[in-house]
Formats: sequence, C-alpha cells, structure tokens
Amino acid sequence: MISYNNKEIVYKGCPGCAYGKHEFELDCGMAYENERFTMSQDWELPIKGFFIVSPKRHVEKLCELSEEERNEMFSIVNKTSSILREKNTCDSFEYVFEEKEKRHLHVWILPRYNWMNDICEDVIDNIGLIFEYAKNNFRDNNNYEEIKKITEVVKEEFDK
Ligand SMILES: [Zn+2]
Repeated sequence: MISYNNKEIVYKGCPGCAYGKHEFELDCGMAYENERFTMSQDWELPIKGFFIVSPKRHVEKLCELSEEERNEMFSIVNKTSSILREKNTCDSFEYVFEEKEKRHLHVWILPRYNWMNDICEDVIDNIGLIFEYAKNNFRDNNNYEEIKKITEVVKEEFDK
C-alpha cells in the first residue's frame, strides 16, 4: 500500500488490524485512539480532513459490533466532523460506511470540497474518480503539511 504522502507501507494480513496494532504508522500520526477504535487520516488518500474510523479488532459486519461499540463509533464520527466544522476545515461531508466480505469494517468521513463539484455532479457515484484525482493532484508537501496540521488540531480537541 502507498501512503497518502507517497511512502510504501508494509504490513501483513488485514490492514485494519495491522493499523490497530500499530504495525504501521502514518507520518501525520493518529488523530484519536482508544482500546476499541482508531481514527486518523485515510491511509492512502491525500485529501485533507479525510478521516477513517476503524475498530481495532477484526470486524467485517456492523452486526458484529456491540450496541455500545456502534454508539461509540458514531460518536467518534460525529465528534470528528463537528471539530472539522468548528475549525472551518469543511462544512459538509459524505459518510461512507463499508461492509464487505473479508474487509475490515470502517467509516470514512469525507469532506465535500468545491473541487469535487468541478469534477463530477455526485461524489458518491464518482468516488473512484475523486480518489484518482486526489492521488494525481494533491501529492505535494504543502498538502502533506496541511493534513498533519488538521490531524494535530483534531487530536488536540479529542484530548481536551
Ligand atoms: Zn482486520
């Protein structure tokens, strides 16, 4: 896997499990973690404020989480987007919840930026296009610094 800032990430097995066990790290660090979840910049995509919330244990289906865990996961999602709103990073979001066989369950918090509207009419219908565009256009040091800064701001708010 190639990281958001173009570095090779090496891990064995499931990436969600490996990240939860700190078998690989991102240069921007984790924005939040507890015993059950991690929350950080998406590992691969250089879109600022694009966060991923993932359980630490291997879960493929929403129903495998306890009610408490589901509530906690969505509290983390809500808190993250609230912080991003307060800090004027972004005002609206797409939440992408992926439940796939043999894939580690996760929620994406994808800020909706104007540049996305310039590429397509519907972000969800064209998410592959958006990701490709980000990979081709946002791999630069200024953007990596911004990603790091946003992670630090979110972390600070979670630590309060
Ligand atoms: Zn896993």
